[in-house]
Amino acid sequence: MHQKKPLALVTGASRGIGAAIATRLAQDGFEVLINYTSNEKKAQTVLDHIHSLGGTGELCGFDVSDSEQVDEKFESILKTKGPLRTLVNNAGITIDSLLLRLKNEDLDKTISVDLKGAIYCTRAAAKQMMKERQGSIIQISSVVGESGNSGQSAYAAAKAGLLGFSKSIAKELGTRQIRVNVVTPGFISTDMTGALTEAQKEAILRNVPLGFFGEPQDIASLVAFLASPSSRYITGQVIGVNGGMYM
Ligand code: NAD
Repeated sequence: MHQKKPLALVTGASRGIGAAIATRLAQDGFEVLINYTSNEKKAQTVLDHIHSLGGTGELCGFDVSDSEQVDEKFESILKTKGPLRTLVNNAGITIDSLLLRLKNEDLDKTISVDLKGAIYCTRAAAKQMMKERQGSIIQISSVVGESGNSGQSAYAAAKAGLLGFSKSIAKELGTRQIRVNVVTPGFISTDMTGALTEAQKEAILRNVPLGFFGEPQDIASLVAFLASPSSRYITGQVIGVNGGMYM
């Protein structure tokens, strides 16, 4: 008899880092739920790729910043597929603005998706994982949450918030063998960084000792490790994947 595959959910997995994480987890033997908000077509492309590699998964559309949607979706996952083993909170947005020009609506949107969205999903996943007495929750934060960045104060606040949140939850959930860790990517080549000008890219690379931008797979490798039993004694940690730009 085939053993049931462990279940992983990756938020914002229709492109970029999320797509790479979903693909890698599927290659490592997880059944992967690919979350997206509006772009079902792109999410389907990720799923098709996973299938072509022999992996399994399903699309799972919901908005992480809507707590009712999150609770409903996680309940229905539990009913149809069983409990989650791994949650990767990858969905994120950045709306850059200098502080004095920061609009309330942009601040609210950033905090709602990047911080509250991760908290809603973590709470819903923890409920299932606690009963199972196992689980791994991985937050995709940012180097900007550690070092700060001019013009990104709202984003930095949300991403830094994930660190305090995750360490607290690691303490709350440790006795249930649920591990909670934070990955802080540096500059990774995706749509999010594609908007940077050549001059901005050069300026950034001057502060990256390894001298190049990372790829989504560089984040996926660490997430795969944190989702696996090989990292069973690691919780409450913040791990940078940033080419040395912040130590
Ligand atoms: P991206 O913009 O390509 O992908 C972000 C994904 O999140 C998209 O698929 C988007 O649809 C999804 N998303 C946005 N709002 C959502 C919502 N409300 N509900 C569900 N999904 C939603 O960006 P990326 O570069 O792949 O970034 C992925 C994560 O890594 C983000 O959290 C980002 O902050 C973080 N990060 C990226 C970099 C980088 O250099 N690219 C650096 C540090 C941290």
